[in-house]
Amino acid sequence: MRAYDIIKKKRDGSELTRGEISSFLTAYCDGSIPDYQASAFLMAAFLRGLSREETRCLTEVMINSGQRLDLTDIPGPKVDKHSTGGVGDKVSLVLAPLAAAAGVIVPMMSGRGLGHTGGTLDKLESIPGFRTSLAVDEIRAALSRVGCAMTGVTEQVTPLDRKLYALRDVTATIESVPLITASIMSKKLSEGIDGLVLDVKTGAGAFMKDLDRARELAAAMVETGNAFGVRTAAVITDMDEPLGLAVGNSLEVIEALHALKGDGPEDLMEVTLFLGAVMLRLSGMEHDLGAGKETLKGYLADGSALRKFEEIVMNQGGRLNSLTEPPGLPSSCVSHAVVSRESGYLQATNAEDIGRVSMVLGAGRETMEDSIDYEAGILLRKKRGDAVRTGDVLCVLHTRRPDVIREAEELCRAAFRLGGSPPEKRSRIIEVAEA
Ligand code: URA
Repeated sequence: MRAYDIIKKKRDGSELTRGEISSFLTAYCDGSIPDYQASAFLMAAFLRGLSREETRCLTEVMINSGQRLDLTDIPGPKVDKHSTGGVGDKVSLVLAPLAAAAGVIVPMMSGRGLGHTGGTLDKLESIPGFRTSLAVDEIRAALSRVGCAMTGVTEQVTPLDRKLYALRDVTATIESVPLITASIMSKKLSEGIDGLVLDVKTGAGAFMKDLDRARELAAAMVETGNAFGVRTAAVITDMDEPLGLAVGNSLEVIEALHALKGDGPEDLMEVTLFLGAVMLRLSGMEHDLGAGKETLKGYLADGSALRKFEEIVMNQGGRLNSLTEPPGLPSSCVSHAVVSRESGYLQATNAEDIGRVSMVLGAGRETMEDSIDYEAGILLRKKRGDAVRTGDVLCVLHTRRPDVIREAEELCRAAFRLGGSPPEKRSRIIEVAEA
């Protein structure tokens, strides 16, 4: 079938065969189908949707476009975690070393931040010297020696996803459950893992603003992972307000270090320990989630999780002490406190607004080509439920761009919503989706 006919068939709402999906996308990957036809295909898939079978086939074609890591000769259960993206989400920085300290092999390939959400790679690269781009041999050596590698997706993995993602980014075809599923799962399934826990964020600061869409995405990813023989579970978590107190790359690394020393904010620890307990369950080490959380708390309390993080950083060339020891953050960063003009109880801190503020301050990027300022960001001083009096500091802005402080402060004020009585306390964990 010609490329034109495949596009037309999807445009008219019919289900494509494996052969049609495979021939179209393989030809796109090798350059024989142009971007304009691939764009039309993506829009047809976006508007008409893809069946489970089509999604599975798309995922397979993406995986087969590149290299799949073979980790079978490395002993131990290989389990990874992936988040669909949020604000202040530094869970991976705490969870990867914590799970590795417990004996899980963690081959974690992460992405960069885009738009209002942050990315694990940028946070890691805020550690002076840290190398996120490891060759396959180096990843394997890190897993054998340290039990964890924290890297970007290597050039050889899912090249088709890289091409399609760039096209989706400029053709308004990102927010599609089957296209996101195939994109995320093809990368994760190429890691050679036995198990995967997905942190599907929902709420103001998430891709999936409403719970039904988050459930749909979680179910599609869990089904795809299991269909490829990787035990997959998804945890839907609340991303209405930023996770923890720090938003911005090196600020988040410093908060993650506190968490690894057993002194992390309550919401960050709740999500980290829950996802960690699911990783232990998927690895076959501890079926009971409560017992799993207790085991992990032990690795925080005895210092092994922190030591594992230091080992990972050192193994990848990073120098943590230049981030944490005086003089710490460079003095070229200006700090500005945002003070409340009213009293009440904090009802919500809109995570998307705070993410936008962090971009204005220089911590995020609008396009993949933008450079970012690792030290820029926001430290929240109040969280949902806290009492606030007039004059209290709501948050502190850090930036090297003093000219943006007024704009950032105004945006920031709009993010904080006060009310007359304390809101009901709620858990960050909404529900678990398992096969
Ligand atoms: N992250 C990805 O890797 N792919 C998507 O499509 C969306 C988020």
